[in-house]
Amino acid sequence: MKKPIVYITRKIPNEILVPYQDSLDFRMWEDEETPVPRDVLLEEVKEADGLLCLLTEKIDRELLENAPQVKVVANMAVGYDNIDVGAALEKNVIVTNTPDVLTETTADLAFSLLTAAARRIAEANDYIRAGKWDHWSPYLLAGSDIHGKKVGIVGMGRIGESIAKRAKGFGMPILYHNRSRKPSAEKDLGATYKEFDELLREADFVVSVIPLTPETRRMFNKDAFRKMKTSAIFINVSRGGVVDEKALYHALNENTIHAAGLDVFEEEPIDANHPLVKLDNVVCLPHIGSASVETRTKMLKLCMDNLLAVFSGESPITPVKNP
Ligand code: NAP
Repeated sequence: MKKPIVYITRKIPNEILVPYQDSLDFRMWEDEETPVPRDVLLEEVKEADGLLCLLTEKIDRELLENAPQVKVVANMAVGYDNIDVGAALEKNVIVTNTPDVLTETTADLAFSLLTAAARRIAEANDYIRAGKWDHWSPYLLAGSDIHGKKVGIVGMGRIGESIAKRAKGFGMPILYHNRSRKPSAEKDLGATYKEFDELLREADFVVSVIPLTPETRRMFNKDAFRKMKTSAIFINVSRGGVVDEKALYHALNENTIHAAGLDVFEEEPIDANHPLVKLDNVVCLPHIGSASVETRTKMLKLCMDNLLAVFSGESPITPVKNP
């Protein structure tokens, strides 16, 4: 019997493919670093039965209409704002994502970014490399304390709760804002629910880990930054689209807030000359929240298992149910 054709939008290690080769026929964009050009992808999906894609690909109505046989789109990410899930569901295309396997790794990174922004770690590293360390002095690169400060988590889902666990270990009181209350986080971690505005006013660290949706787009705007403490540190590990970056730049440049740690940006890759990147009180990372070798491998395997399940007539393991 003919094997289903799966198009993979980036070169991935061969050892990930091997266990699935008896059941699936793989075609792949043979470049590890650059995304597949849109015109190539539109051509390749014409014959594909399934797609393994990354957040660099826009899976929109145009693409889905060009892909008459595609039954399943396996997104190698937990966030799926790159996919028009509504259009996919209309066309009976199953969409899957990679929740859980990346939760702890992303929480590790979020906490590292918080630490780096508070204690000026990137700046301190640059300082030595630039040959500037001539003397030691009491306030040399002095930053902000972390222990005892209030963390405000916006989006208390899987990753939000894992960040809260780490914050608890650092002796930080935990505030959170979420669409629904999280009794387990309140009971187990002592987290306190706050309306969005209250959290902005009270938190020393505001951590964004909320999915990008029409409701959350640019929720961190000029107004939001104005409500934060002037000593506040803003951390974003969710999606760049939840932030108005111009407003963030002005808030940081005019000391409306103190510092920021950003793993995600409205336009990725962000230009090295972008004004945000030039600020000393910002730590920027190239969207590496889930980037440990172990976790990236688990994410790819979960994509493969989802594809295989669908083509074997079983339910996908981690389907995306709502647009
Ligand atoms: P999750 O478990 O679904 O958590 C998302 C939380 O946000 C849920 O608790 C949800 O509330 C809440 N929420 C959604 N819309 C809201 C709204 N309008 N107002 C208030 N709360 C809202 O997802 P996760 O696994 O923690 O991942 C969260 C996000 O992190 C992903 O969507 C992705 O964008 C980002 N991420 C980034 C990286 C990276 O590399 N930087 C890595 C992984 C994930 P309910 O419980 O009420 O639905």
